[in-house]
Amino acid sequence: MGVIRQTKSVKILHNEFDKSSEAISVTALIERFSSKMNKTTIYRVLDKLEDDGYLHSFLGKNGHKWYAKCNGCSSSNHTDAHPHFQCSNCGKVDCLPADVVIPKIPNRIVDVSQVLLQGKCEQCHT
Ligand SMILES: [Zn+2]
Ligand SMILES: [Zn+2]
Repeated sequence: MGVIRQTKSVKILHNEFDKSSEAISVTALIERFSSKMNKTTIYRVLDKLEDDGYLHSFLGKNGHKWYAKCNGCSSSNHTDAHPHFQCSNCGKVDCLPADVVIPKIPNRIVDVSQVLLQGKCEQCHT
Protein backbone atom coordinates (compact mmCIF):
# COMPACT_ATOMS: atom_id res chain seq x y z
CA MET A 1 0.00 0.00 0.00
CA GLY A 2 2.73 2.42 1.01
CA VAL A 3 4.56 1.64 -2.20
CA ILE A 4 1.60 2.72 -4.34
CA ARG A 5 1.15 5.91 -2.40
CA GLN A 6 4.84 6.75 -2.66
CA THR A 7 4.86 6.15 -6.43
CA LYS A 8 1.92 8.49 -6.84
CA SER A 9 3.57 11.15 -4.69
CA VAL A 10 6.77 10.88 -6.72
CA LYS A 11 4.75 11.52 -9.87
CA ILE A 12 2.96 14.53 -8.40
CA LEU A 13 6.19 16.18 -7.24
CA HIS A 14 7.95 15.26 -10.47
CA ASN A 15 5.20 17.05 -12.44
CA GLU A 16 5.39 20.08 -10.19
CA PHE A 17 9.08 20.57 -10.95
CA ASP A 18 8.57 19.83 -14.64
CA LYS A 19 6.21 22.79 -14.99
CA SER A 20 8.99 25.36 -14.80
CA SER A 21 12.67 25.70 -14.07
CA GLU A 22 12.05 27.72 -10.92
CA ALA A 23 13.16 26.37 -7.59
CA ILE A 24 10.51 25.51 -4.98
CA SER A 25 11.03 25.65 -1.24
CA VAL A 26 10.16 22.69 0.94
CA THR A 27 7.84 24.95 2.94
CA ALA A 28 5.92 25.87 -0.21
CA LEU A 29 5.64 22.24 -1.29
CA ILE A 30 4.30 21.18 2.08
CA GLU A 31 1.70 23.94 1.91
CA ARG A 32 0.77 23.23 -1.70
CA PHE A 33 0.24 19.50 -1.18
CA SER A 34 -1.01 19.43 2.40
CA SER A 35 -4.29 17.86 1.28
CA LYS A 36 -2.59 15.15 -0.80
CA MET A 37 0.40 13.98 1.22
CA ASN A 38 1.97 14.48 4.60
CA LYS A 39 5.25 16.18 5.39
CA THR A 40 7.17 12.94 5.89
CA THR A 41 6.17 11.68 2.45
CA ILE A 42 7.24 14.94 0.84
CA TYR A 43 10.65 14.81 2.56
CA ARG A 44 11.09 11.19 1.53
CA VAL A 45 10.12 11.79 -2.10
CA LEU A 46 12.40 14.85 -2.36
CA ASP A 47 15.27 12.75 -0.98
CA LYS A 48 14.59 10.08 -3.56
CA LEU A 49 14.37 12.53 -6.45
CA GLU A 50 17.65 14.05 -5.33
CA ASP A 51 19.28 10.60 -5.17
CA ASP A 52 18.02 9.92 -8.68
CA GLY A 53 19.77 13.03 -10.00
CA TYR A 54 16.48 14.68 -10.88
CA LEU A 55 16.57 17.41 -8.23
CA HIS A 56 19.25 19.21 -6.27
CA SER A 57 18.79 21.03 -3.00
CA PHE A 58 20.35 24.15 -1.56
CA LEU A 59 19.74 26.69 1.16
CA GLY A 60 17.96 29.96 0.48
CA LYS A 61 17.44 33.02 2.62
CA ASN A 62 16.90 32.36 6.33
CA GLY A 63 18.21 28.81 5.92
CA HIS A 64 15.15 27.50 4.11
CA LYS A 65 15.72 24.44 1.97
CA TRP A 66 14.94 24.70 -1.73
CA TYR A 67 14.83 22.18 -4.54
CA ALA A 68 15.30 22.69 -8.26
CA LYS A 69 15.53 20.49 -11.31
CA CYS A 70 18.96 19.26 -12.30
CA ASN A 71 20.32 19.67 -15.74
CA GLY A 72 21.74 16.42 -17.04
CA CYS A 73 22.53 14.81 -13.69
CA SER A 74 22.14 11.13 -12.94
CA SER A 75 22.30 9.18 -9.71
CA SER A 76 25.97 8.36 -10.32
CA ASN A 77 27.05 11.72 -11.66
CA HIS A 78 25.52 14.48 -9.61
CA THR A 79 27.15 17.89 -9.67
CA ASP A 80 25.31 21.16 -9.27
CA ALA A 81 28.00 23.70 -8.61
CA HIS A 82 26.09 26.64 -10.08
CA PRO A 83 24.99 29.65 -8.03
CA HIS A 84 21.38 30.39 -7.17
CA PHE A 85 19.57 33.69 -7.26
CA GLN A 86 16.89 34.79 -4.84
CA CYS A 87 14.81 37.87 -5.57
CA SER A 88 14.52 40.04 -2.48
CA ASN A 89 11.32 41.55 -3.83
CA CYS A 90 9.14 38.64 -5.00
CA GLY A 91 11.09 35.80 -3.39
CA LYS A 92 11.54 33.83 -6.61
CA VAL A 93 14.59 31.56 -6.69
CA ASP A 94 16.22 30.10 -9.74
CA CYS A 95 19.41 28.40 -10.90
CA LEU A 96 21.99 30.53 -12.65
CA PRO A 97 23.73 29.10 -15.70
CA ALA A 98 27.15 30.17 -14.47
CA ASP A 99 30.13 28.39 -13.00
CA VAL A 100 31.40 29.14 -9.57
CA VAL A 101 35.15 29.18 -9.48
CA ILE A 102 36.25 27.27 -6.44
CA PRO A 103 39.69 28.37 -5.30
CA LYS A 104 42.29 25.70 -4.75
CA ILE A 105 42.96 25.53 -1.05
CA PRO A 106 45.96 23.57 0.19
CA ASN A 107 45.09 20.51 2.27
CA ARG A 108 41.34 20.93 1.76
CA ILE A 109 39.03 18.99 -0.49
CA VAL A 110 35.88 20.89 -1.45
CA ASP A 111 32.80 18.68 -1.88
CA VAL A 112 30.02 21.22 -1.83
CA SER A 113 29.83 24.87 -2.72
CA GLN A 114 26.72 26.93 -2.11
CA VAL A 115 26.47 30.38 -3.56
CA LEU A 116 23.29 32.38 -3.09
CA LEU A 117 23.08 35.68 -4.89
CA GLN A 118 20.33 38.04 -3.80
CA GLY A 119 18.88 41.03 -5.54
CA LYS A 120 16.06 41.81 -7.97
CA CYS A 121 14.90 39.39 -10.65
CA GLU A 122 14.07 40.34 -14.25
CA GLN A 123 10.44 41.04 -13.34
CA CYS A 124 11.23 43.20 -10.34
CA HIS A 125 14.17 45.34 -11.37
CA THR A 126 12.25 47.82 -13.50
ZN1 LIG B 1 11.26 39.29 -8.35
ZN1 LIG C 1 20.27 24.95 -9.11
